[in-house]
Amino acid sequence: MSTKVLSEHLAKRDNHIPVKIAVAKGDGIGPEIMGATLRILKAAGANIEPEFIDLGEKVYLSGNTSGIDSEAWDMISNNKVILKAPITTPQGKGYKSLNVTLRKSLGLFANVRPVEALSPYVPSHFPKMDVVIIRENEEDLYAGIEHRQTQDVYQCLKLITRPGCERIVRYAFEYAKAYGRKKVTCMVKDNIMKVTDGLFHQVFDEIALSYPEIENETQIIDIGSARLANNPENYDVIVTANLYGDIISDIAAEIGGSVGMCGSANIGKNVSMFEAIHGSAPDIAGKGIANPSGLINAAVSMLAHIGQTDIGDKVKNAWLATIEQGYHTSDIYKQGSSLQKVGTQDFADRVIWNLGQEPNRLPKSNLSLGKGSIQIPDYVRKPEQKELVGVDVFLEWWRNDPMELGDALSKLDVYRLKLKMITNRGVKVYPEGLKETYCTDHWRCRFVGVDANIVSEEPNYAPVDFEQVVALLSKLSHLGFDVIKTENLYEFDGKRGFSLGQGE
Ligand code: NAD
Repeated sequence: MSTKVLSEHLAKRDNHIPVKIAVAKGDGIGPEIMGATLRILKAAGANIEPEFIDLGEKVYLSGNTSGIDSEAWDMISNNKVILKAPITTPQGKGYKSLNVTLRKSLGLFANVRPVEALSPYVPSHFPKMDVVIIRENEEDLYAGIEHRQTQDVYQCLKLITRPGCERIVRYAFEYAKAYGRKKVTCMVKDNIMKVTDGLFHQVFDEIALSYPEIENETQIIDIGSARLANNPENYDVIVTANLYGDIISDIAAEIGGSVGMCGSANIGKNVSMFEAIHGSAPDIAGKGIANPSGLINAAVSMLAHIGQTDIGDKVKNAWLATIEQGYHTSDIYKQGSSLQKVGTQDFADRVIWNLGQEPNRLPKSNLSLGKGSIQIPDYVRKPEQKELVGVDVFLEWWRNDPMELGDALSKLDVYRLKLKMITNRGVKVYPEGLKETYCTDHWRCRFVGVDANIVSEEPNYAPVDFEQVVALLSKLSHLGFDVIKTENLYEFDGKRGFSLGQGE
């Protein structure tokens, strides 16, 4: 959060001025669990003033395909904090995911999901599990930039940025520092995606140097998620990119035994949104049996965020005490270990009754460690020298013969651009490919600059200018090649800004 927003929240807290919160009651079980949560917050003395906004099904069905109207946007940008119950996205075409719209429009860059086992009260194979997954929330494959490029080949663009990596990694270390966590694990797949995931890893290593008191490690996401599923007790804070984080945060919630109990925070520089991780559960809506715990936990994170950590601890400890006493909603009720099956509102009444109590066996809440004050410095862009050294030209070509294509393209001589290689689905097929390699109709043809002063037949990534690329494309088109896209090849401060082909 920005310094200005934080000081506004803290000034309100210190002067006992209620913090206005935009509250969305949501759909399905949303209004029931929101009602229960707000009653608990009020009874605990949270200094907040809820202002209700309409989001979700009703707005969608009124013809607004984004699920949110301009009045709600205004309220959100004035209040800067949203407590949101789950909403229902109507089935059918044309309705955009409201969560994605909110995340992206409001710049909610960090998704924070704490998962702690509540064993033995809620069964889990991993009674000591206490992990926080911090997922980058705006970038990666979720940019939604997809194209069908040839008859047979479809593409989704993965975008990873330096400001995005710096922000999320710094947030993870600051979170660990604020909440007394000991270790941050970075999960990437940079053995394959050396440029994009390589950047995430590099930024992690750079930023880790500023936090010598916090242990850091990096794991490849595949083995990392397997280890998380097998030994979650070995993890503390995990930071990762959007798609990996989406998957491992669900794995963590599932093995923690608490999908219905987890809250999550979506943190931005100015606005932050707090919600349960489960959906609107239309199958049990209106029955009064939904578990409000996910939203209660989200509200506790919200209180920490606005500096009301003492009230957050009070609510969390009362909730833990209620779980320990065995008052359980039907989703977690177990004969023998639970004391009484309760509905949504009775559960809330029990939590209210327990305000001021602390759990006996489960670890107590201690939010005051965090002081709700994580701040991320603005990104500083350092100037770098960028040089064009070639171009990857993608062609649609339906004759399955790399030699024929390669020999034809090798003959082209456009200024100082020469063919270096051809790949198909990333594997080099020319020159010296293997006849076993399966080829589609999508060919990446790498043309690079040749320095006439270097005595070598090999194209050698010498600088070229864009006019030469344009001339090459024009020539290819003139010869009847179907150019479907290009990617310029750059060096930045002399360092290669593109990956080599497999086998290059
Ligand atoms: P869901 O999480 O709503 O339900 C899955 C199962 O878990 C159901 O059996 C449900 O009864 C149960 N469940 C969920 N929350 C519970 C609770 N608090 N207490 C007791 N039981 C609970 O997932 P779904 O059925 O896939 O999705 C239903 C709707 O929710 C869809 O329209 C989906 O788009 C939406 N959804 C919204 C959000 C959100 O707003 N953040 C997130 C996920 C899904």
